[in-house]
Amino acid sequence: MKPLELDVFLCRTDNFGVLVHDPETGLTAAIDAPEEAPILEAATRRGWKISHIFTTHHHTDHVSANLALKEQFGCEIIGPINEAVAIPGLDRTMADGDSFLFGDHTVKVIETPGHTAGHICYHFVDDKLLFAADMWHSLQKLAVLPDETAVYFGHEYTLSNARFALTIDPDNERLKSRAAEVEALRADGKFTIPTTLGLEKETNPFLRAADPAIRRNLIMEGKTNEEVFAEIRKRKDNF
Ligand code: ZN
Ligand code: FE
Repeated sequence: MKPLELDVFLCRTDNFGVLVHDPETGLTAAIDAPEEAPILEAATRRGWKISHIFTTHHHTDHVSANLALKEQFGCEIIGPINEAVAIPGLDRTMADGDSFLFGDHTVKVIETPGHTAGHICYHFVDDKLLFAADMWHSLQKLAVLPDETAVYFGHEYTLSNARFALTIDPDNERLKSRAAEVEALRADGKFTIPTTLGLEKETNPFLRAADPAIRRNLIMEGKTNEEVFAEIRKRKDNF
């Protein structure tokens, strides 16, 4: 199996557009469809025809180009069963645990409600690729995937996330160096996508509720992981 080819580009203000291309079959999937023009630009630049749209959730900034792309390419739109009525042009619904083939590549659907009630992630199992609009709500469920899984998220929020993480986990050396890297990348106008699950486990406080230093910092040593997670969530909402 030839490796998939990816093209990542900015849409709107801070949404990522991603095209996933299978060189063996010529299939090309857009992961969400935030904005028509940059998606067309990327497809044209690569010489790819969009055959699919894989929708993560129904928010406008993820589906607004669905109908325009469908009209132009006749592409098939796949999306979450629990948001089917809210997704323009949807052809095929997916629920938790469903899988389908993209060429010879197996794609497994993982439901991660939180950001929206029906949000799904697309896991390209053999390719160790994961696509999710929102990571914060879903990380615990995704933590069972291999550490080397590359995670493509829907928005460029990494800098703000890293700054927040430092307020929870200020002495974490790996986090400090990652935050510095992210500051430098953003100052250069570069993207921080993708991350890996392994890196998230080392630096993302939502995956570190059991960590003694974080518990000490929050003065929550005797609490359950769920309580610590809820406290981090609350602080993130107010950050
Ligand atoms: Zn959203
Ligand atoms: Fe969004």
